[in-house]
Amino acid sequence: MVNEVKKIEETLEEVIDSYPAKSMKNRKEHIVIRDTSQDKQKIMANTRTIPGIISNRGCCFAGCQGVVLGPLKDVVHIVHGPIGCCYYTWGMRRNQAVVGENEKNFLNFSFSTDMQDSDIVFGGEKKLEQAIDEAMEIFNPGTIMITATCPVGLIGDDIHAVARRAQEKYGISVMAFSCEGYKGVSQSAGHHIANNELMEHLVGKKEIELEAEYPINLMGEYNIGGDAFEIERVLGKIGYKIIATFSGNGSAEAIMSAHEADLNLVQCHRSINYIAEMFREKYGVPWLKVNFLGVDQTIKSLRDMAKYFGDEKLIQRTEAVIAEELAAVEQSLAMYQDLLEGKTAFLFVGGSRAHHYQNVFKRIGIDTVVAGYEFGHRDDYEGREVIPDIKMTADDRNIPELEVEKDEQRYHLRLSKEKMEELAKEIPLNNYEGMIKEMEDGTIAIDDLNHHEQVKLTKILKPDIYCSGIKDKYTSHKMGVFSKQLHSYDYSGPYAMFKGHVNFARDVANGILSPTWGYINPPWKKEAGLEGNYGGDY
Ligand code: SF4
Repeated sequence: MVNEVKKIEETLEEVIDSYPAKSMKNRKEHIVIRDTSQDKQKIMANTRTIPGIISNRGCCFAGCQGVVLGPLKDVVHIVHGPIGCCYYTWGMRRNQAVVGENEKNFLNFSFSTDMQDSDIVFGGEKKLEQAIDEAMEIFNPGTIMITATCPVGLIGDDIHAVARRAQEKYGISVMAFSCEGYKGVSQSAGHHIANNELMEHLVGKKEIELEAEYPINLMGEYNIGGDAFEIERVLGKIGYKIIATFSGNGSAEAIMSAHEADLNLVQCHRSINYIAEMFREKYGVPWLKVNFLGVDQTIKSLRDMAKYFGDEKLIQRTEAVIAEELAAVEQSLAMYQDLLEGKTAFLFVGGSRAHHYQNVFKRIGIDTVVAGYEFGHRDDYEGREVIPDIKMTADDRNIPELEVEKDEQRYHLRLSKEKMEELAKEIPLNNYEGMIKEMEDGTIAIDDLNHHEQVKLTKILKPDIYCSGIKDKYTSHKMGVFSKQLHSYDYSGPYAMFKGHVNFARDVANGILSPTWGYINPPWKKEAGLEGNYGGDY
């Protein structure tokens, strides 16, 4: 193992060799080579990208509107800003939802105030008011969410005042989010802003008659490629009642009653841990870290959930459903494992997926050689125990901390203190261990990867698959390495749970084993007199 780490260290030296000294020092702190002989391994995260470096990150607005709010189906989402920012609506994700008989669904639309030069000079509030009037006239929604883009903050439009006036005028819920793109260091700031407003303005607004035995909320699940549909199917089969999903296939209406749940499941820790913690403080609802990507992690999460409720009937039902679902996929997974054994993967995805997908790959014979987050914080890498050590920066202070207090009428402990302590030793209750601890020796954890590092590492490590988002997908393809988007699934999916794992294995096998890669032959290699350089010339 020592030799292997040494070899990887040399690789990294080669990657960061071209940086000026100050940048090199900075980037070194964002890269860790996993070494289990060390007690703790520290990584730098959630700091500003070095100016001049091409980052693969998204902006604060992208995190707020594009990730957390966008999937809510019964909401008219008005993007207040120039039309280009609307890329972070349908351009980035295809939000999907199943709609009940009396439910409204506006997911087919993107709404923007389309700010022009004159709005930047004279202010855009009137235009926003007009957009709300039009939305009311045509669609008559129960909730409108206004998200701010960079120019809105720069010229000082008061979107909160506009929202208040519209709320009074129409008697519906109109919420404003000050999530201008430049706030924070990445899309992570936008998640925090969205979480605060949802907690303050929606959660707890509606009581429901609850007869279900195991009421839960699904948090940090965004229904990419229909994942939430598959999760809902399996959890429903076991007997769980999902009150609200934050926010894939979710609705503002359902979120209003989310405080009635007995457990919150946290899938993507980074984007939703704020709400999960606030639920504990305000209503006494604990959270459990789950992972429904990959059969092994799904089975673990389902068993953890059953353990939390501790009901023999639920435990038996869980095992029966696991056996049934597993039997349907085992043969296919074994076939894909035979095809893919020994391949390697490079993951640079979001705030939890780079962790979650390592297990998905492992089950089909693929080892992860590099994994990193676009917008993770240190706790996403190292575990929540490091939170007290994380120093506040000016960027963090840009995002107002929402102080919640115990709701005296609705707060109650779902389990006794003793039972919670006992369970916390066995299952990840109110805890996340982070990505690094599960990584194998000699693998690389890298924060805020940039295009230079992506290209260099790909050339040296020669992964068989690169998983990331749209900004770097084609860099990888141009280098002859198959790339799969894990932010949108390239219009495939679902990949969650049991059947989803087979879908993923099929797509990965089709991509890696495609003969296409053998046909990459640029013109300068065929025609005399032409000269050129091919990015992945190896
Ligand atoms: S950085 Fe600003 S201008 Fe660019 S997409 Fe985000 S909000 Fe819009």
